[in-house]
Amino acid sequence: MNVLIVYAHPEPRSLNGALKDFTVQRLRTAGHAVQLSDLYAMGWKAPIDARDSLDHDLESRFDPSQDSRRAFASGRQSPDIAAEQDKLRWADALILQFPLWWFSMPAILKGWVDRVYAYGFAYGVGEHSDARWGDRYGEGTMVGKRAMLIVTTGGWASHYSPRGINGPMDDLLFPIQHGILHYPGFDVLPPFVVYRTSRIDEARFADIREQLGERLDSLWRTEPIAYRKQNGGDYEIPALTLRPEVAPGAEGLCIHVIGSDG
Ligand SMILES: Cc1cc2nc3c(=O)[nH]c(=O)nc-3n(C[C@H](O)[C@H](O)[C@H](O)COP(=O)(O)OP(=O)(O)OC[C@H]3O[C@@H](n4cnc5c(N)ncnc54)[C@H](O)[C@@H]3O)c2cc1C
Repeated sequence: MNVLIVYAHPEPRSLNGALKDFTVQRLRTAGHAVQLSDLYAMGWKAPIDARDSLDHDLESRFDPSQDSRRAFASGRQSPDIAAEQDKLRWADALILQFPLWWFSMPAILKGWVDRVYAYGFAYGVGEHSDARWGDRYGEGTMVGKRAMLIVTTGGWASHYSPRGINGPMDDLLFPIQHGILHYPGFDVLPPFVVYRTSRIDEARFADIREQLGERLDSLWRTEPIAYRKQNGGDYEIPALTLRPEVAPGAEGLCIHVIGSDG
């Protein structure tokens, strides 16, 4: 299988650097082909702007969506964007690895998503009408591919538990797992989260490697998070609200996961 790792940490000698090296080696040893997009090492340009289209006239008004659509459709995207899209097409599985920074991904990785997820590639795909709202949330370009997050946090697991002060980790990762990964069609596996990173000695590091190794070994067997499919019948179209008879009375992010609606 082909695995793309998109990795965002500025320091190779960090915990994230060590876990990234471990991941690459474990997957290759198991016979998988691995490509690594090490965003800091690549000097990845994070801001989306007019230079992302080879044809953009810098004097005219820049429209992030429409310029992206035109550049993608005409094959006139900046080569760094096109190269990452090729890696995504090649991949059977995508791993996004990053430290949790201000409750989300580092800006450089968000900038990878903003630029690589072009209009016509990751969104704006399929029929858009009053009867059908595009191929998204379970359908789209990435259908048949798996995705998983590897995330490290300074906070403790309890801080991210269902009643923890930081908010439940499932909720914090919802915009990434549901909004960025499920949206273009990935099957999203439960995340691998390393909490309380300030307390890692050699013994705990060995445990973490062991657990991560198991997750990598079972990448193709692990049951994805049961996100509902937009066009699977659970949502009213075009309102895109859950039908009243599905999880009646329930609200919040969990209603979009089958069986997690309380
Ligand atoms: C801008 C910013 C925002 C942040 N926001 C949040 C937030 O919103 N929520 C939150 O919970 N945390 C937050 N943090 C903390 C952050 O998530 C952690 O600092 C980060 O996850 C730690 O990962 P690291 O790779 O940088 O670890 P490192 O600092 O490199 O390592 C952490 C520890 O792991 C051990 N270690 C490192 N390398 C190895 C190795 N090779 N072998 C064995 N042990 C090793 C060491 O004990 C080290 O002290 C934030 C930090 C920053 C800088």
